[in-house]
Amino acid sequence: MQSKNLISLPAALFTLAFAGAAWAQAPGQPPLFATTKVVGTDNVYIFRYQNHQAMFVVTPAGVIVTDPISYGRPQAAKTYLDEIRKITQAPIKYLIYSHHHYDHIAGGKVFKDAGATVIAHRRAKERLAQLKGLDVVVPDQAVDSKKTIKLGGTTLELIYTGRNHSDSSLVMFLPKNKLLFAVDFNQLGSVPSRLGVNDSYPVEWEASLKRTLAIGWERQIPGHPGPGGRLGTRKDMEDQLAFMTDLSAEVKKASDAGKCFDPATKEVRLPKYGTLANYEQNIEWNIHRWCGYWGRGI
Ligand SMILES: [Zn+2]
Repeated sequence: MQSKNLISLPAALFTLAFAGAAWAQAPGQPPLFATTKVVGTDNVYIFRYQNHQAMFVVTPAGVIVTDPISYGRPQAAKTYLDEIRKITQAPIKYLIYSHHHYDHIAGGKVFKDAGATVIAHRRAKERLAQLKGLDVVVPDQAVDSKKTIKLGGTTLELIYTGRNHSDSSLVMFLPKNKLLFAVDFNQLGSVPSRLGVNDSYPVEWEASLKRTLAIGWERQIPGHPGPGGRLGTRKDMEDQLAFMTDLSAEVKKASDAGKCFDPATKEVRLPKYGTLANYEQNIEWNIHRWCGYWGRGI
């Protein structure tokens, strides 16, 4: 999803800093892109370009790349590969998509040309084959519920935890590091944006968060930088689950009272969550989506 509404205030300011077509780095602004090794790991990295980011894992036998994040900026994938090449000359073995939304997965050709096998959830493969999006590589392989990749001493589990922000989200779990790469279905302290809920599955989303929490991870690499660039915690995910559970219950009540879509979008409020970033600007989109579910069967 586009993330301007997804993130906390400091991160929103950070995003606004990137809004211009011409990039000019002012003092105090983060650089256009950055590659950082995840603290406490030997071989897990985050590549960030503007306000999207992806994980890559370097092993002696090859590199596992995720999400090319090049929608609207084809140079990002080339930069991503150049950044990897500063670290290793090992072959690019895999490119794995977190889900099928273009802002995360456009630009995969650079990695496919470098030799990667492209992997995604089955529905992502089906959808992308139908859509034929500009600069979107259709996956070579599909995952249904789980696939384990072992490469050069590293184990990476690709796990489908159900429909949430999309119907094709795979989480990527590194058991050794207890690290999880999960994209767009778990915000870090903010209310999902319109694009966050447009393609989403209320109630199933909550179940997916529970299944994801059941995986033994401790830290989450998100698809958009967290506040101050931090990683996600289990509490972030628990908080998101609590917000969605309460949202769903309140919208169900409004729906049963015949208030969906209006006046529910104006009347339903969750003051307990009012301190979440982007609450005011995004709450109506969330109510609208859950109204569709409870009120119309959409
Ligand atoms: Zn998305």
